[in-house]
Amino acid sequence: MLPSFVDRPKGNEKGEFIALDLGGTNFRVLAVNLDGKGVATVLNVSKFAVHKKYMQGTGEQLFNFIADCINSFLTENGFKRTKTYDLAFTFSFPVQQTSIAAGVLIAWTKGFTAKGVQGKDVVNLLNEALKRKHIDCIRVTALANDTVGTLVAGSYKDPICDLGVIMGTGTNACYREKRSNIKKFKGPDFEGHMIVNMEWGNFDKVRLTCYDRELDASSVNPGAMHLEKMVSGMYLGELARRVLVDGIKRDIIFLNAPHAALIFKRKGSLKTSHMSLIEGDETAGLDQVDEFLKQKGISDSTLDDRILLKRLCRLVSSRAVGLGATAIAAVIIWMDPELRQMHTVAIDGSLFENHPGFPSKMTGVLRKLYGVKAEKIAWVHSKDGSGRGAAIIAAVAAFSEKNRKMMQE
Ligand code: ADP
Ligand code: MG
Repeated sequence: MLPSFVDRPKGNEKGEFIALDLGGTNFRVLAVNLDGKGVATVLNVSKFAVHKKYMQGTGEQLFNFIADCINSFLTENGFKRTKTYDLAFTFSFPVQQTSIAAGVLIAWTKGFTAKGVQGKDVVNLLNEALKRKHIDCIRVTALANDTVGTLVAGSYKDPICDLGVIMGTGTNACYREKRSNIKKFKGPDFEGHMIVNMEWGNFDKVRLTCYDRELDASSVNPGAMHLEKMVSGMYLGELARRVLVDGIKRDIIFLNAPHAALIFKRKGSLKTSHMSLIEGDETAGLDQVDEFLKQKGISDSTLDDRILLKRLCRLVSSRAVGLGATAIAAVIIWMDPELRQMHTVAIDGSLFENHPGFPSKMTGVLRKLYGVKAEKIAWVHSKDGSGRGAAIIAAVAAFSEKNRKMMQE
């Protein structure tokens, strides 16, 4: 439970900002315009894949890569180097923030291990890399978690939005809490609310199967992030693969395709995006599944094999939907036990966006838990929310800095 140092925006924040979004799979640089009336528009965006050598090398290599991406974004989009641009850094890992623009990485997650970053202020590391690369036109004014960005982006337009959720490479959420309840916040004690980054991916009170335990043991962070490893995009395909390999070993599936065992033995041979394709195949003969298997080198699957594979994927993804929706319900119960008010949940992430039926299945779980009252909870897909929200946070930070200076004068 990590204080974010921000609350919901007012909706009248204005200006143009640059935002960085380091989420896990991709790194994005965006220019965002805030119109002051609840609309945050992405003006330019560049997406860069984060190569394993940067994820698992040194911190200096990772931050140099980030600075290089910023450089090419500025050049490609014709930003003048003579001006100064306020930049918001969405850094989607557990960070102990010490102010709106400073925070120390507690622990890497989602496959990152870059050395020399844990325990350091990531804004400092970014500033040092900008200096090394002679990028002088950037001023880092805000540091945000992607969940917080998503909630802030959602509530810029919709003032009843009070939960931000990510279902992408990893999973996490944030919600609004009364300041007086936040014991970890050491700032001035005054009325009002602050958004709390829950880091719920690290929740570990859920019963694990043998497949979860095997996956955890083979991860770069064993013993940590159990809920994330059961729910998010980085892990679902791998979980399904482990169940499949077991099924093959037990002669339940692919009885007539003996080489399937060898093909699916390889880590990464079944991805979460493959599950979307398999589960989304509505043809009678499961032709798309057949095509997928043929591309893998399995041309002799039976229809029963394909039905079983689809069911297996559905079991793994349904558990993820169930856990994700139940976690959302748990947070809403904390905020509003009787469900007296309306709540909007802002969600972002490629798993939520691309997995067939993910949103409607989550609604189904909430209906099971809440009955008709579930109608009080609405989703909004906050596309690019983490980047757009970070820009709004930068605007809030720039505004308070301006105010502080005016007060001093
Ligand atoms: P991040 O979480 O890194 O900010 P995204 O929200 O784009 O980025 O999530 C990327 C992850 O989403 C990928 O690692 C993958 O696990 C998952 N993903 C990508 N495409 C699909 C898809 N078609 N169906 C389900 N999951 C997907
Ligand atoms: Mg993201």
